[in-house]
Amino acid sequence: MEQITHSQARTQSLSWYERATQVIPGGVYGHTSPAASLPLTFPYYINKAEGAYLWDVDGNRYLDFLCAYGPIILGHQHPEVEQAANRMRESGGLFSHPHTIMVELAELLVQRIDFADWSVFAKNGSDVTTWAIQVARQHTGRRKVLVVKGAYHGVDAWTNPSPGGIIPEDRMHVHAFDWNDVDGLDHLLKKHAGDIAALILNPYHHPAFGTNVAPSNVFVETVNRRCREHGVVLVLDDIRAGFRIHSGGSHRIYGFKPDIACYCKAMGNGYPVSAAVGTEALKAAAGKVFLTGSYWNDGIALAAAKKCLEIIERDNVPATLTRTGERLIRGLETAAASHGIRIIGSEPFAAPMIAFDGDADLRQMQRFSELCAEEGVLFHPHHNWFVSLAHTDAVIDSAIEVASRAFAHMATEA
Ligand code: PMP
Repeated sequence: MEQITHSQARTQSLSWYERATQVIPGGVYGHTSPAASLPLTFPYYINKAEGAYLWDVDGNRYLDFLCAYGPIILGHQHPEVEQAANRMRESGGLFSHPHTIMVELAELLVQRIDFADWSVFAKNGSDVTTWAIQVARQHTGRRKVLVVKGAYHGVDAWTNPSPGGIIPEDRMHVHAFDWNDVDGLDHLLKKHAGDIAALILNPYHHPAFGTNVAPSNVFVETVNRRCREHGVVLVLDDIRAGFRIHSGGSHRIYGFKPDIACYCKAMGNGYPVSAAVGTEALKAAAGKVFLTGSYWNDGIALAAAKKCLEIIERDNVPATLTRTGERLIRGLETAAASHGIRIIGSEPFAAPMIAFDGDADLRQMQRFSELCAEEGVLFHPHHNWFVSLAHTDAVIDSAIEVASRAFAHMATEA
């Protein structure tokens, strides 16, 4: 079994953070900021990643269950993906005009995703979720967007969860209902009848500060039916789980019938790329919503994505990740129980999460993450975790050993 070693020194991390605060607002921004309630035992700066591991600037090694918050699906620096990217790099990278790899990647997605007739590419998840909403508005000539409370769709003003810089007008056409709440959905459909362009949701609910929640059958059926009946464009935000739990997109697991789906994280195994795919009926509208970005023709990321998606299908990666995540969750449940602690694991196992029984304020989760990070295992305290192909059984078992020591420690503190 792999031995996890960890020196715990964080001198360099802290010193770089100090320098950063002089020249970068907040030092580290977004969800990796220390201000975002990450345990203080988490490193601030990482300068190397390989397989299932990260090394921070102090030389500490961490077993990585963050996986860059989803993109790392095959393991850091997967040789085949790196080779595809390097081959493209030898010809250049950004060519002013698209490289033919873009056409090949679009063909792959159209062939792979059952409802897709076209595809476009960008860099981040937010690029394509926002664009998809515009396509829905262009197609329907309507204004309103229905969203699920607590769902995250990116940083743009219509959906950014933080109030900084947002004015009420940014959200005046965005209306939220609860996950799995069919009556709440029907209420909004009635209230804004004739003016709803899009309903955007995730294939399963994965709010920050909460566990994953699958859709009920009746919710899936109602969403599909109501969108058809009311001419509402169903946008599936599959940014986080797309190709991780099913190689044809997560709707294949849960049964949603989207008109547009957005993908990003697991597409390129770390190379920056996102995609929106859609039905023939939306192709004309999609052609009318201006879409561009300085780096969106980047052939290297597109080549990496093509290779990554080929591997995901060839090696049935979602099945392996599901087994891996289940091994982790079952192991943690057993280890916790042996110390008198009850935790509840949540699926999908390829992007697993746990909750401590009765831990509404997440204090136990925070303590658990803190203790594990101290021993070199990064389990996020309030965002779902990720596993990759590099998380072998031995790697998972080593994480469970560390977690078990954390549970033992927590039992003494209770
Ligand atoms: N949707 C979902 C479900 C996400 O998880 C994310 C990123 N965490 C986004 C959209 C936004 O993607 P990005 O950060 O690449 O803009």
